Formats: sequence, structure tokens, C-alpha cells
Amino acid sequence: MNGQMMQMPLLTSSLLVHAERHHGDQQVVSRRVEGDIHRYTYTDLARRTRQLAKAIVALGLGDGVRIGTLAWNGYRHMELYYAVSGAGRVLNTINPRLHADQVTYIADHAENQVLFFDLTFLPLVESIASRVKTVRHFVAMIDKDQMPASTSIPNLLCYEDLTASQDDQFTWPPLDEQEAATLCYTSGTTGNPKGVLYSHRSTLLHTFAAALPDSLNCSASDAILPVVPMFHVNAWGLPYAACMTGAKLVFPGAGLDGKSLFELFESEGVTMAAGVPTVWQGLLNHVQGLGLKFSTMRRTVIGGSACPPAMLRAFEEDYGVHVIHAWGMTELSPLGTVCAFKAKHQAQTPEQRQAVQAKQGRAVFGVDMKIVNPDGDELPCDGQQAGDLLVRGHWVVSRYFREEGTGHLQDGWFPTGDVAKIDSDGYMQITDRSKDVIKSGGEWIGSIDLENIAMAHPSVMMAACIAAKHSKWDERPLLVVVKKPGAVLSREELLAFYDGKIAKWWTPDDVVFVDTIPLGATGKVLKHRLRDQYENHLLRSA
Ligand code: ADP
Repeated sequence: MNGQMMQMPLLTSSLLVHAERHHGDQQVVSRRVEGDIHRYTYTDLARRTRQLAKAIVALGLGDGVRIGTLAWNGYRHMELYYAVSGAGRVLNTINPRLHADQVTYIADHAENQVLFFDLTFLPLVESIASRVKTVRHFVAMIDKDQMPASTSIPNLLCYEDLTASQDDQFTWPPLDEQEAATLCYTSGTTGNPKGVLYSHRSTLLHTFAAALPDSLNCSASDAILPVVPMFHVNAWGLPYAACMTGAKLVFPGAGLDGKSLFELFESEGVTMAAGVPTVWQGLLNHVQGLGLKFSTMRRTVIGGSACPPAMLRAFEEDYGVHVIHAWGMTELSPLGTVCAFKAKHQAQTPEQRQAVQAKQGRAVFGVDMKIVNPDGDELPCDGQQAGDLLVRGHWVVSRYFREEGTGHLQDGWFPTGDVAKIDSDGYMQITDRSKDVIKSGGEWIGSIDLENIAMAHPSVMMAACIAAKHSKWDERPLLVVVKKPGAVLSREELLAFYDGKIAKWWTPDDVVFVDTIPLGATGKVLKHRLRDQYENHLLRSA
């Protein structure tokens, strides 16, 4: 017997309809490439989004056509999120920090027919305009009077003209919820980027889960600032969760330095933010340097790379900002686990609680996970044994865009490429990416633990630990370190800092001090570059 409840497709447009109807006066604030602060409401957002959707349809683009963006976090990008998907087209947010060849590769692979871009990226678009094969229209996301006077870009349209060319009498089509809504590419640290095609249904289910209290905990009384870019896995779903919950949205545009972020936090009463550790390091340096305090900020989501315990401690103890550690991937829309306490942690000491928070957290309902050994046998959740982390769920990729089959799955589970432990309370802790594990004399050493210890040293700004070739042990850990400005620190002093914190044989063999550590397009350490440079370091110095 079937249930007898209404059947309504799970569509992204329904989020915007909800925000307009029930939170119409809530604000969306953006720092613009024009340099000023733009402010409007969900009512304005919904109206302009309908105009834009109508304009996109009028461009004569068919259903399911891909439309690319190269843009910062801002209200126009938000309008594109909803207009393109809501109208039955697919939004492909491209990471503008990628090399021009990779941007071209993605635009071609996605077969984008339109490319919207912020003026910051004019030089990038000029450099690829004659190379991208399928783009018919380029649209500058700017007012008419600020359009570039001369440019080599053919068919250049103005975003504001395009939007103003239509009225807002547009009804969102009742799409099938399985239809594609957005397309994101993995950052392609090795090999070409791969496309992950999210459906309306997977996006909506992910949004419900992301907003939950033990998840990102979003509500109508929040002012949310996604530092994580809208080109990095849909800003971790916050543009959707904000509409679902009626939260105020604050978009930082290109101002991702500590000073600009802090100013916006304070002027807009931001209560919650989300981003990768490298961004938070910049913010902490700024507030620490000037002795500033946050007046409204209550919590921050940190993910994308492991949150170093020293950063966690600084936010929690020095600034009263609660850290929500989260783990995910492009292939997971991105949320997999979030670190929220259980009741039994409430009475624990701050140190014990921070030890819990340093883990990547518990599975969010909708994603199941397990760890397995190299034979594929499931390992116990004892917090001791580490294995390959596999996941499955409503918003986990089943196959990559334009790739045949689901051959990469293992018995229906997606192999994440991460190595992790899971404890008896269900908290997962990433020890490494499988390709970054240090294999020393047949034993595995997790690089993240070693980095976290180095990062807790007061003179260390940033640390990465890589596998260096070793004549006796095959590989041994090598630390690559950037010191804080003006800090004096020797190799011996830093290695002595490991005493008592870790098994003696895990201690890195050597330290290389450098001025900078290479970061990829999503702010993660490019370990393969460090390996190319330093993998023979121990052989040389032996
Ligand atoms: P890419 O894999 O192309 O770099 P993603 O942004 O999808 O792009 O990265 C996902 C990976 O990032 C995960 O597989 C994991 O290795 C790492 N990651 C994400 N969040 C965390 C975290 N909180 N702690 C440790 N690693 C993380």
C-alpha cells in the first residue's frame, strides 16, 4: 500500500521560493568587485533571479545546457546559482585560481555554452576566449557603465543589461528532481579534474542535512559568511542552507585577507563562517597582531584540510569561537562528517573536548561510512586501526560526468582516497590521504599528526610533512616548515618538541625551513610539489 502524501519534487528553486515568501526581508550583503558594499533582501534576490532565469531562457539555450561561472562569492553569483538550476540548466562553477589550461579543459569538458565572470577575471577570460570550444556568450557580471571599453572577447554581454532585459514574471518549471542542477570539478591535484554532477534531489537532501544542529547548525537568527568560495563545492552548500533556514548571508567577494574579513564580520554581525584552515590562519594572524576580538562571531566551520589543534585552541580559548570541524569532498557535495559533541562530552575538560574536536566528526545522516583493509575487509571502529575510508549515500557521486560506468566504486561504496580511524562513538579521524602516507620500514606514519604537532609550536606558521626516500627504511618523514615572521627556531629545537608527544620512531628525520609552502587552488598544500622538490633530501644529506 502506498502512502497518501503529496509528492513534490525536491528542487533548488523551492528554496528560493521559501526564502522569498517566509524570510523576504532578510538581508543578503556582498562586498563587490566594484569596491563597495551591496545590500538587498531575499525578496530582491528572488525577483532578480526570476528576471535572470527568463533572460537565460531567452538566450535560446536548451534544457540541461551547461553554463559556467568564474566568480567570487557575491549576490550575482547567488542569482546565477538559483536562476540557472531553477530554469533547468546546469551551473558549472569553475575555480578561477586554476591554471588557464585547466579552466579551458573544464569549460570544454562541461561543454559550457555561456560563461559568466567577475571583472577580476577579465584577463583570464581574454586568454581563453578564443580557445574554449563551445562558449557562445561571455557575460561580464558588472553594471553597464563599468563594462570593459575594449576587449578581445567576442559576444561580450553585460550582466545587468541581460537581467534588466526581462521582467520578473517567470514561473519555476516543475523539473524532475533527478535532473542535474550543478556541476563541480575536483581540483585535479593529480591528473585532469573530474566532473561531479549534482542533482536537484541530492542538493536538497544535502541541504536538509547541512542545516541540522549537529551539522552546520544554520538558523534564521544567523548571519552566515561563507569564506569558502562558491566555486569550491557550492560553498559547502551554505547558499542553499541559508535560503532553507532564512539566515542572513554575507558574501566577502575578493576580500579574503584577515583585515577585510574581520571588518565584514564586525560590520555585518556575522555569527557563523566557514572556510579552509589557510584562510583562518590569515584571520587569526590579523586579530592576534592587533589584539582584536570578535563581537558577534559564535562558531566557524573548518574543513577542506585537517584543522590543526593549535588553531582550534586559539579560536576556542582566546576568542570564544566554537570550531566545527568537518570533512567532505567534491564527490560528496561535500559534507561527509561533522564534529559535534555528544551529551557525554559536556562534562569533559576543555582539553578532552578539544581532542574530540580535532577529529573530523561523525557521519551526517544520509552518508554511511566504513574503513577497510587492503583486502576490502571491514575494520573495527576501535579508534586504533586505520584503513581506507569508503562512503555511500544520497549525495555521493555514482559516476563522474561524461565517464563511462561506475568502475571506481567498490561494491557500491565510493573509495575516498583517505585513510582514517573511526572510534567506538562513531567519530572519524583522517590520518592521511592514501597517497601521502609515509611508509617507513613496512609501517605507516600519518603525516597529519606530525604536522599538527609542528603547527602547535609557537614559532611555526605552517608545516607540511612528506615522505622522503630513505636508504634503510624506504621512506621517512621530512618536515617542511615556514616560520612565523621574525621567529628564531632551529631544526633541533623543533624535533625536540616532538618528545613525549608521539612514538619516538615517528619523529621526522629532518626539517627544511622555507619561505612559502605551495598551495593549490582550494588552499590545500600541494604535497606532490614538495615531494618533487625534497624526496631525495634524506638521501642527499645521508
Ligand atoms: P580535491 O580532492 O580535488 O583536493 P576536495 O575539495 O574535494 O578536492 O578535497 C577532498 C579531500 O580533502 C578529502 O578527500 C580529504 O583528503 C581532504 N579533507 C577535506 N576535509 C578535511 C578535513 N577536515 N581533514 C582532513 N582532510 C580533509
